[in-house]
Amino acid sequence: MSILIRNGTIVTQDENRRVMKGDLLIEGDEIAGIGDVGGLADEVIDATGMIVMPGLINLHTHVSMANLRGIADDVSFDKFLEITYGADANRSPEEVFKGALQGCAEMALTGTTCFLDLYYSEDMVAKAAEQAGLRAFLAWAVLDDDKTTQKGSPIENCARFIREWSGRELITPVVGPQGVYACSGETLARARELAKDNGTVCHYHLSETRGEVYDLMKREGSRPIDWLQEIGFLGEGDIAAHSVWITKHEMIALVESGVSVAHCPTSNMKLAVGGVAPVPEMRQAGGKVGLGTDGCASNNSLDMFSEMKTCSLLQKHSKWDPAIISAQEVLDMATTEGAKALGMEAQLGSLEKGKKADVVLVDARIPGMSPMNASNAVSNLVYSCSGRNVCCTIVNGKIVARNGALAGNSTG
Ligand SMILES: [Zn+2]
Repeated sequence: MSILIRNGTIVTQDENRRVMKGDLLIEGDEIAGIGDVGGLADEVIDATGMIVMPGLINLHTHVSMANLRGIADDVSFDKFLEITYGADANRSPEEVFKGALQGCAEMALTGTTCFLDLYYSEDMVAKAAEQAGLRAFLAWAVLDDDKTTQKGSPIENCARFIREWSGRELITPVVGPQGVYACSGETLARARELAKDNGTVCHYHLSETRGEVYDLMKREGSRPIDWLQEIGFLGEGDIAAHSVWITKHEMIALVESGVSVAHCPTSNMKLAVGGVAPVPEMRQAGGKVGLGTDGCASNNSLDMFSEMKTCSLLQKHSKWDPAIISAQEVLDMATTEGAKALGMEAQLGSLEKGKKADVVLVDARIPGMSPMNASNAVSNLVYSCSGRNVCCTIVNGKIVARNGALAGNSTG
């Protein structure tokens, strides 16, 4: 199967961040040509007036909570945890599957082609992601046996999930130690061992709230990142969500350990965590920082376009500096940096020959995206665009959503 996307404004996100008028040819699951391609294909899409861009990478979510949207709005952080833990404890695998399918539909329709998830019952999420045709990195939540609502032992459930779902084209299972507040040193050591044994990484929540930091200082005598370093847990290729309440010393430790950060600005602000993740500082120190929506209980949306704008506004406003982060840098976080965090920079994150065909088309002919040209396309994507402007989403060379409807056998 080949697809020729003709005459679009292509935001390549390549090394030189070129934006060009032209065509993009997809053959099988790869990008086969870019620029003045021409020729024939099984399917030709006229992209006149559209932006052609790499698929967005949501670096932290709990996708199956899509059908728990609005369950815990406008309450304290403790109340939020009480409500969501209560809901999690009572969900059947079928409800997790339905929620995941709904969340995958929302992502496909709003231009997200790849996501990193953290939850239990990831086998249900994997089924939903495969059905929707999305690329998914799925971290089965691991936590202390006496704190979990999972049936059986979380570490054994995670090990079984990795065994059953390894080696797939679009699904990559990873280990998900939930956070220091739910994991003892022993649980973390077992999670690390499981990840090492399977050649994978860990994805976890980290220093989201000040309360989490203080509680751990009481329990272990150290701040979270300091403690994780002391017990030898931090691992190259890991991805930590949030990392809001961190010291400069901790930030350096993360960067030097090769741990990436998934910044979740909307969730942080809605739950009023108070602090602001030091995104420019981490980037300047050489850290990899991607962007995540977090789950629908704390964000209420999986729209990565909205997340990009919120990321930009939070950093600018909190630093009293409108130049602290550019639209280009924010788009990088949602594409190339997310790909790097997942260790997939050779395959994902930009539109270049030989890379996987994860491609999104955005309608720029509407009033809310005009004027649009090569010099303001990136600005329009970050500051003016919504996921509703996405008119086609392609993952691994297959169209998964088009003109507001899901393609193939996906359901909403
Ligand atoms: Zn989360």
